[in-house]
Amino acid sequence: MLKVQMLMRDDMIAPWRPHLEAALAEAGLDAELATDHAPEVVDYVIYAPGGGAADLSGYTNTKAVLGLWAGVESIIANETLTQPYARMVDEGLTEGMVEWVTGHVLRHHLGLDAHITRDAPEWRQTAPPLARQRKVAILGLGELGAACAMALTRLNFVVAGWSRSPKSLPGVACFHGDAGLDRVLSEAEIVVLLLPSTPETENTLNARRLALMPVGAVVLNPGRGALIDDEALLAALDSGRLGHATLDTFRVEPLPRDHPFWSHPNVTVTPHIASETRPETASRVVAANIRRVEAGEPLLHQVDKARGY
Ligand code: NAP
Repeated sequence: MLKVQMLMRDDMIAPWRPHLEAALAEAGLDAELATDHAPEVVDYVIYAPGGGAADLSGYTNTKAVLGLWAGVESIIANETLTQPYARMVDEGLTEGMVEWVTGHVLRHHLGLDAHITRDAPEWRQTAPPLARQRKVAILGLGELGAACAMALTRLNFVVAGWSRSPKSLPGVACFHGDAGLDRVLSEAEIVVLLLPSTPETENTLNARRLALMPVGAVVLNPGRGALIDDEALLAALDSGRLGHATLDTFRVEPLPRDHPFWSHPNVTVTPHIASETRPETASRVVAANIRRVEAGEPLLHQVDKARGY
């Protein structure tokens, strides 16, 4: 019988256990799911620790560590991880991100704030442009970025995307490399950041690149806080170059109460809720990966530690 350890935040155990048990059984796996297996007997670790990294050094016979989160910067920094690590790619997580990004793009595209937050009667008939006249850029064309790009394309937005390696997505103008990023930013009225946090992506939106964007452009950051130079962003908002920033991720989370983002009139803060892994769908991904390794097939969604994502 396979020994599967739930190395997870305490409050996640109860909601996840029934879904994991059902998915393991559905995959035909004879597995004992627990939180207190002795580390050296564990075949697979399901990993989502609270409060930072967990010590994996005792898991000497573990065939794979299966993460429940999409982001990997903290596990990559965990020096006790010597086992293969698979990050989470989950249809529920992707669906949630597509909905968050689409909703916030539409908010800015339609200028909803002008009507929702007005404080006096006003009859100013300025209709918004059509989506086919609005340029949106998605930085990062991985699982989440590509799904968001495709959803926005289906709504007729003019979508450009940027990634590390060359990509081809139907209806999306794809760019890569430094020159590609400058080109994408110089035209984008709404920019969505869905890059991972790595040494290369830190401060992707710095003062120079923010200055390339059209006046009044909007930034959405459901990716990671470190992708943006906070000071440069605030300066660009204060000068009026940027119209708005809707931020879901921050360098320090929870965002400190005295951080200027909270009170800035042109910043919307959402508390890292753009999307999350859903136990119903993600448990099947975990079980499928265990089944694959047991059958001698390669692990899906394995993280390349050297590449950083
Ligand atoms: P992914 O599949 O690994 O995709 C990452 C994308 O970023 C790829 O297109 C990759 O390019 C590109 N990229 C990486 N390094 C780059 C660089 N130096 N220059 C240009 N492009 C680069 O990741 P994902 O599943 O889409 O997730 C993206 C991020 O979303 C996660 O890392 C996490 O930080 C964030 N996230 C946030 C939430 C939330 O609730 N706020 C939830 C889930 C995830 P290639 O295609 O060439 O490899």
